[in-house]
Amino acid sequence: MSNETAFTEASAVIPGGVNSPVRAFRSVGGAPRFLVSGHGPYVVDVEGRQYVDLVCSWGPLLLGHAHPAVLDAVHAAVDSGLSFGASTPSETELAEAVIDRLAPVAVGGTPVVEQIRLVSTGTEATMTAIRLARGVTGRSLVVKFAGHYHGHSDGLLADAGSGLATLALPASAGVPAEIAAQTLVLPYNDRDAVEAAFASYGDRIAAIIVEAAAANMGVVAPAAGFNAFLASTAHAAGALLIVDEVLTGFRESAAGWLGLEPVAADIVTFGKVIGGGMPLAALGARREIMVHLAPLGPVYQAGTLSGNPVAVAAGLATLRAADAAVYARVDEVAGVISTAADEALTAAGVDHVLSRAGNLFSIQFRPTLATDYAGVQKQEAFRYGPFFHAMLDAGVSLPPSAYEAWFVSAAHDDDAVSRVLEALPAAARAAAAAVPA
Ligand SMILES: *Cc1c(COP(=O)(O)O)cnc(C)c1O
Repeated sequence: MSNETAFTEASAVIPGGVNSPVRAFRSVGGAPRFLVSGHGPYVVDVEGRQYVDLVCSWGPLLLGHAHPAVLDAVHAAVDSGLSFGASTPSETELAEAVIDRLAPVAVGGTPVVEQIRLVSTGTEATMTAIRLARGVTGRSLVVKFAGHYHGHSDGLLADAGSGLATLALPASAGVPAEIAAQTLVLPYNDRDAVEAAFASYGDRIAAIIVEAAAANMGVVAPAAGFNAFLASTAHAAGALLIVDEVLTGFRESAAGWLGLEPVAADIVTFGKVIGGGMPLAALGARREIMVHLAPLGPVYQAGTLSGNPVAVAAGLATLRAADAAVYARVDEVAGVISTAADEALTAAGVDHVLSRAGNLFSIQFRPTLATDYAGVQKQEAFRYGPFFHAMLDAGVSLPPSAYEAWFVSAAHDDDAVSRVLEALPAAARAAAAAVPA
């Protein structure tokens, strides 16, 4: 079967042929690749073509595809039954593993994460975090930043980054104005805007939610001290700070972005790497906050498949295998590939800037680094399609949007990295030759 046929057949029965809009090739053109397998740094499509994968399932696959330890753990779990709708000891082990990793992130001796609750998706984690913050504070308003993505729950879809940016949508239809009005959307890295919002609405704000480092509008690092400023501003007004580590957690370091830049987060959300490729996510906080969740407290949250034993097995095996050598390799591969992309684009004379936050990176097709969503959108994104397709033709699968991070894994060995480096010069020339649509 060809990718075109697979896409045509899918499009007849699935809207746009995809089950998540970011998988569509609308901004780069052509039929999405339909994948059938993945091993280490490689994926294979329905035509039998192999690609070096720089999507890595959008982040979860820190260890690469089909890591033996993860597969073994999943096979063992599967053999014992798929789901019980009851507690399993492995959930406690995963909670302990997360709490241990976050232990160095403490404020005044109290760890930021003392308890966690497992859910199935990052969307649920942030949605629950917001409800929890509202339950704890008795307030309604939430501050988010333009270009930050926190999943697809109603109140968090305003100016929500890549998926919407790629489709040029400011926000989703179907979100009642009354609900959107509960979210204040501010420019990222803008302290004045945060101070102004708190001056006007401070006693009505339940929480600020922020990506630990923004990576859903391409990568945009927080300005030095910005996250700490958010914590102190929120706390001075009696509001909470929710740090969304769904993408950065357990990828940027053993303790995520908070491991690189500890701040006094009140609630932290996890996803992606925590499930190692299975549907698993979580939220964590100090005990005094978590006790507000049902069944202890009045903030309701539930899930038939929450803490699913197969997903927990994959997550636990992933975290156990993600040792210092894994993080060193991910950092190294990210450094080599991002530097090579930067150099290839410079050699081809393309206006661009490499944007990095730890081991996450992306390219902005503009001469200077943009630090907020308005700036990110002022780029020559039309250069990305030809760049992307040249890489794909050379056997490298990049995210099909200029507004996404590139993801590497510890399984990206020297062969895989070489294939990326060899593909970059021609792709950079294709970007240089691109013309606006
Ligand atoms: C991916 C992501 C989410 C949503 O997670 P899903 O599992 O796709 O629902 C939330 N926040 C951030 C920062 C993300 O990158």
